[in-house]
Amino acid sequence: MSGRDTHTCNSLSRRDFIKRSLLTASALSLVPLASTTSCSQPHAPTGGMVNDNSGTGHLIRQGFKGKPAKVVDLPVAIVGGGVSGLSAAWHLNKHKLSDFLVFDLAAKEGGNAVSGSNTISSFPWAAHYLPIVNNSNTGLIRFLEQQNIITGFDEAGLPIYNDYYLCFDPEERLFINGHWQDGLVPSFGVPEQEKEQIAAFFKLVEDYKHKTGSDGKPVFEIPISQSSQDTEFRDLDKQSFHDFLLAKTWDSPYLLWYLNYCCKDDYGSTLQDTSAYAGLHYFCARRAKAANAESSAVLTWPEGNAFLVNSLSKELKSKIRTNQLITSVNLVNDKVEIVAYHALTQECIAYRCEQVILATPQYINRYLLPPELHDSSALQAFEYSPWMVANITVTGLTQYKGEPLSWDNVLYHSKSLGYVNACHQHLNRYEDSYVLTYYLPLTDLPSKQARHAIMEKPYESWVQEILADLRPAHPNIERMVTNIDVRLWGHGMIKPKPGFIFGKEKEQAAEPLAGKIYKAHTDLAGISIFEEAFAQGIGAANAILKLHAETAGA
Ligand SMILES: Cc1cc2nc3c(=O)[nH]c(=O)nc-3n(C[C@H](O)[C@H](O)[C@H](O)COP(=O)(O)OP(=O)(O)OC[C@H]3O[C@@H](n4cnc5c(N)ncnc54)[C@H](O)[C@@H]3O)c2cc1C
Repeated sequence: MSGRDTHTCNSLSRRDFIKRSLLTASALSLVPLASTTSCSQPHAPTGGMVNDNSGTGHLIRQGFKGKPAKVVDLPVAIVGGGVSGLSAAWHLNKHKLSDFLVFDLAAKEGGNAVSGSNTISSFPWAAHYLPIVNNSNTGLIRFLEQQNIITGFDEAGLPIYNDYYLCFDPEERLFINGHWQDGLVPSFGVPEQEKEQIAAFFKLVEDYKHKTGSDGKPVFEIPISQSSQDTEFRDLDKQSFHDFLLAKTWDSPYLLWYLNYCCKDDYGSTLQDTSAYAGLHYFCARRAKAANAESSAVLTWPEGNAFLVNSLSKELKSKIRTNQLITSVNLVNDKVEIVAYHALTQECIAYRCEQVILATPQYINRYLLPPELHDSSALQAFEYSPWMVANITVTGLTQYKGEPLSWDNVLYHSKSLGYVNACHQHLNRYEDSYVLTYYLPLTDLPSKQARHAIMEKPYESWVQEILADLRPAHPNIERMVTNIDVRLWGHGMIKPKPGFIFGKEKEQAAEPLAGKIYKAHTDLAGISIFEEAFAQGIGAANAILKLHAETAGA
């Protein structure tokens, strides 16, 4: 769950000091821990399944609409308080259009960038990092600057990122052939011939990174909407990443494992059900330059992207309505009426709005919108990958055979993506307990079947599966784990299947309705990342700001 290659930072800054002291602290803490844990007895960890609000969400699938007790006028409503909805809210507020409310069915805003915490650390429940941002993405750069995530610019105009938020070293390691190697690209025990194929792939990536289409735009850009329209490259979306690689006669098992891992990591899908455009996008769209970090550097926090959620929402608290399920969206006379059901009080209120932003995924919108307003058949093309995320508290994690505990720790040939150390950015590393965030995209079955299967699986089976997966890399893992909490994401991420990103269904679903209902969600980008959510929100907010400016000027 990270950047794609290992790197070190060259700046002689506070960050180096932090890194060095952390490494020393980390090394010091290891020796006694390994020996103390070896005599303790295995014990069943505490923990359980964490509620994901799916019960409330399922009400609309059962046709529940609610009977409003009253009708309230509201200029603008934003439905969905994930990163897309909050970005829209943040942008409207910044432009002094502050007469709006944000509704979210969950008890806390953030969508799948929410976090949890325990006595050891905060930890993410899903999204946990943001790669440093392309310099062309000026809106997002300005936001990061306002939040002190970018602290300034050097003489060449390159952003200086806050040292505390740049991922400290050691960043990534891979458990392969019985050993923890540095970085995630397989190298330990990999035959020379296969290494050559891996190098050839990265050469292609370098070429594509700097390619522009016939319209002069980059072939791969973030947000995707800013990429070249040149069909020569857009056609990469029509074939699977797997077929693209085989057509180049790249069949090295190590290379294919690595790229399959990347598809699972970025999209919750496999090489076969990811388009070649999407597969290449992660590698080729990132061209960030910073004054104090390498291009592949990432920003991360113990609570993951909930840090960014809090940055977006901190000035909006009075406008956010949580525990509120929107059950329907209709045109009533010249207004948009949304019905909000309060999950705690069971009260229903109808809001009559001038404009509404639907920052909800399309699998939800199909239940919210009436058939006369939209053609729901286009929404069949939207497929979402289910995920399981576990936060595992460990004490005295033994670390031997190779590289030390890193931020991102991946297991070769595992179904999972391994785990991220939520404590990695802690300044005090003289600790013997960590929270490890374990990620499992469910890719073995078609999404719908996988969704049903995970909902039926008991907590104890998840615990056994997690421990069995970690055991080869951490013998005696049972002795180290004190708590495991498990959370399921039935519709975690949109899958960029072949033909989806530049397909007509996605384009159609993104259309505003009746000049009053605007859509903003990462599924409309075709890939689910913070930058796309931010761009979705800003795009919808700008459409409303434009309308208001036109009305004011008329
Ligand atoms: C396991 C996992 C790991 C990820 N890791 C990363 C990462 O490290 N970095 C990264 O950039 N991205 C990551 N992502 C992608 C992440 O999804 C996006 O970055 C982003 O947070 C999506 O925001 P969104 O607002 O578009 O969607 P969502 O987060 O889906 O927000 C939609 C919101 O709408 C609300 N809602 C739905 N229906 C209703 C209704 N009827 N009424 C009211 N509210 C409703 C939901 O509660 C939710 O809050 C990850 C995703 C998953 C699942």
